[in-house]
Amino acid sequence: MSFLLLNIWFAPAVSGQSSGKIAAPSNKQLASPEIERKVEALLKKMSMEEKLGQLVQYSDSGYSGQAKTAEEAANPGKNPTAPHPVDAMELVTSGKLGSLLNLVGQERTNQLQHAAIEKSRLHIPLMFGADIIHGYKTIYPMPLALAATFDPELVSSLAHISASEARTGGVNWFYSPMVDISRDPRWGRTQEGAGEDPYLGAAMARAYIRGYQQGNLSLSTSVAASVKHYAAYGASEAGREYNTTDMSISRLHQVYLPPYKAAVEEGAATMMSAFNALNGVPATANSYLLQTVLRDSWGFNGFVVSDYTAVMELRNHGIALDAAAAARKAITAGVDMDMMSHYYDAELPGLIKSGQVPMSVVDEAVRRVLRVKFALGLFEHPYAEGKEVTAAVPENRPLVRKAAEEAIVLLQNKDVNGAPLLPLKKDVKKIAVIGPLADDTGEMMGAWGMTRRDPDVVTVKDALEQRMKQSGGSLLYAKGTEISSESEAGFPDAVEKAKQADLVIMAVGESAEMSGEAGSRACLDLPGNQEKLLEQVAATGKPIILLVFSGRPLVLDRAAKNMPAIMEAWFPGTEAGNAIANLLYGDAVPSAKLPMSFPRTVGQEPLYYNQFPTGRPPVGLDLSQPPNGDSRFFSRYVDVPNDALFPFGFGLSYTKFSYERVAVSRHALPLKEASRADAKDLITVTASVKNTGDVEGTEIVQCYLRNIGASLEQPVRSLKGFERITLKPGESKQVTFRLGFPEISFYNNDGRPIVEPTDYTVWVGGSSTADLHDEFKIVR
Ligand code: BGC
Repeated sequence: MSFLLLNIWFAPAVSGQSSGKIAAPSNKQLASPEIERKVEALLKKMSMEEKLGQLVQYSDSGYSGQAKTAEEAANPGKNPTAPHPVDAMELVTSGKLGSLLNLVGQERTNQLQHAAIEKSRLHIPLMFGADIIHGYKTIYPMPLALAATFDPELVSSLAHISASEARTGGVNWFYSPMVDISRDPRWGRTQEGAGEDPYLGAAMARAYIRGYQQGNLSLSTSVAASVKHYAAYGASEAGREYNTTDMSISRLHQVYLPPYKAAVEEGAATMMSAFNALNGVPATANSYLLQTVLRDSWGFNGFVVSDYTAVMELRNHGIALDAAAAARKAITAGVDMDMMSHYYDAELPGLIKSGQVPMSVVDEAVRRVLRVKFALGLFEHPYAEGKEVTAAVPENRPLVRKAAEEAIVLLQNKDVNGAPLLPLKKDVKKIAVIGPLADDTGEMMGAWGMTRRDPDVVTVKDALEQRMKQSGGSLLYAKGTEISSESEAGFPDAVEKAKQADLVIMAVGESAEMSGEAGSRACLDLPGNQEKLLEQVAATGKPIILLVFSGRPLVLDRAAKNMPAIMEAWFPGTEAGNAIANLLYGDAVPSAKLPMSFPRTVGQEPLYYNQFPTGRPPVGLDLSQPPNGDSRFFSRYVDVPNDALFPFGFGLSYTKFSYERVAVSRHALPLKEASRADAKDLITVTASVKNTGDVEGTEIVQCYLRNIGASLEQPVRSLKGFERITLKPGESKQVTFRLGFPEISFYNNDGRPIVEPTDYTVWVGGSSTADLHDEFKIVR
């Protein structure tokens, strides 16, 4: 069924009638009768202007009139609305502004809050929303890196730390987590999410919500989460930022929606509507997403804020002829709050007067916003209190360091002189650390570091210098080149330092701003002349450990051929250097696994492990060789292998793990039993894992599933469970995964999960290429 048809089919839900069973409210706190009474009492007193004030959001620095469409920006003379600076204080005082964005700091947030509480007619407190996505002052690894930990509990604890730090600076609402699945690393916002897999993405989404909201928004250390960007923004075509997305309803539900759904189930208080269009309807005017799925099917009872000027952008999308049409389409589709467009306050009075937007739609949006404000306890405790956190908090550093240790992926560790290069031998006396990212504090924190403080960061150079001081060794340092530069002026110094050293650590990669919002790249190589620097340093013959800092998977094909050891360090945060030094010296043992496939070349993108099969699978062919006559007509490239250089779920340790006895508890399951949506424990999968190396280590055991014979083709395998286990040398442990309806079902093109009588294969192992497996069937 086409998306258009679906939209029409579900249209009654938008006009007030139900499309079927309406789910229970997702957040119980927001559904409290006491809050409801307060909301109704307040709503009755509100004027139109005061209502609209709750539905708009501006920054403190003032906005300059209505956001312009692309056409107006190009033709300033035609812009009917002259830009005008706006005084946030004045708006707040007159009850015309209910929330501000990206304003932090106790003094100013409290000033504005005092105006809202003491001067505005109805004393409605403000929400202060901010892009705190990986820490407030104590910055932890970027979200994609945290996904590499496969450690939701750790992620919850970190999220909680950032919430408690941020509350002291007045922030009570985070534009986080970003849960967009991204299968194309050209898209820079890959950095902000959990990567390519919906199961891992959903686990991470839940973890953030638990950490931010703690199941109780009114706690003084909780913030409201805004889950973004709803929906499917990560599927932007060609990885180009803000680009369109187009996909089947089955794929939407199976791949892109699960993390949002998980966040809603966990009680997320708010959602942010995305910039992109989905199947021709911009997400910010998409009633299928905002009403049919989010509210009717999932029972979401928080509020939806638009992304920054996304309401205005409906005009650029070409689905609204003017500001009034854009405002009407967004609010009737279900966007409650207009971020920065200045369309709701300007246009809704006229639209209501002319009957194009019913007052009931505005009232409902206001209710949703007020419920969150009451649940946050802002009416009782509106102000930021206590000692304001203005720098990284010493007590929070150990957890942030642990997170970086768990997030950094050991991609390669070849033998040098008969033994793996890592961990470093304690007797290495002279180390050269080379590269543009070896001693750069700011870059260590990645995108969205609005509250970061560079002096708080420990760089790789800092940490290794410290180590060398303790061990009596010496550290040589050369920057070599800039991140993006063609100048080779620094090369001779770098080569000279490498020659003098026993071993070289090279810190290369991207700048933080090459990913994140508006950070799409069409090339995924190391920028500038870093590859060339690597070659010249490698020519010295010294063993090299390559540290790669990046907001996404990069193409490391050449490096993998030439460098014995490679670590993907992402952007690890405040404790970058200390965590890396601990890993290099074996004081911490790497355990991270890749949350995204690393390609051999950018031309393979989008490259993801859970792809659909083709009618011409190149199974059994030697893909490392160019095709000959016999092997040509398969789904393959003539110039590069199909597979990833480093696949999803892959990561090395300083020890080794072996797997045995992968077995399912039942080989046949009756269809009727398997079709119950609440069936949680239909079948168990067990495997035995042993540490066969010499040091204690943590393995992330992964369970993958495939089913064949269904009415729609299914991915060649999909992650359905993971567990972190720590084993001493020689120790083994049995790991059990429980598969229920959510794991074995798939979504059809009506957006419904179903089970059919099909054949399943289940693999357990240490990456998405695990080969030990067992099988079961669903039978009629
Ligand atoms: C981004 C959002 C962000 C918002 C507010 C937008 O441009 O897409 O992720 O939360 O700005 O800063």
